[in-house]
Amino acid sequence: MIMPATRPTYWSAAVCRRGHVATDILDRHPVEPHCERCGADIFKACPTCGGRIRGARYGVVTGQLSAAPDFCGACGSVYSWTTREGLVYAIENKLDSDADLSDIDRELLRKRIQVLSQDPSDSAKIMGRWIDVLKELAQKSPSALKAALPVLVQILEVRKALSLGS
Ligand SMILES: [Zn+2]
Ligand SMILES: [Zn+2]
Repeated sequence: MIMPATRPTYWSAAVCRRGHVATDILDRHPVEPHCERCGADIFKACPTCGGRIRGARYGVVTGQLSAAPDFCGACGSVYSWTTREGLVYAIENKLDSDADLSDIDRELLRKRIQVLSQDPSDSAKIMGRWIDVLKELAQKSPSALKAALPVLVQILEVRKALSLGS
């Protein structure tokens, strides 16, 4: 007989919009509304479904600033602080679950996105190619388009940071 879990096996975390972990034992440590490292708003729950953000496991030394998870375990949404890899997973998840998309388009789009995601340069040329993919998603898979837009935002932020630094 499988016993139902009576309590979760991990604490909740609070994470800022950029992914800085404010605490991984939120249940014990209330946090300020803003991140002390970057000033961004701090999320105490998934912005999409209100579910807990996974923090430290019970029994592990807590209070350590562990890395924030990339996805919500409850609803599968990708968090705003995820890496490029996480964003690509999110796009692929949407492509996989889009019943209106033909299998050929699904495979072609998946391939183009994988090739693009492996180029770390974030050059203007790469950005142009992402925009082309986004235009195609807009026609063929609006749900995947929504998941892909944060990639463009991320590239723009990288390019802005580079131009400010030079
Ligand atoms: Zn922060
Ligand atoms: Zn969620």
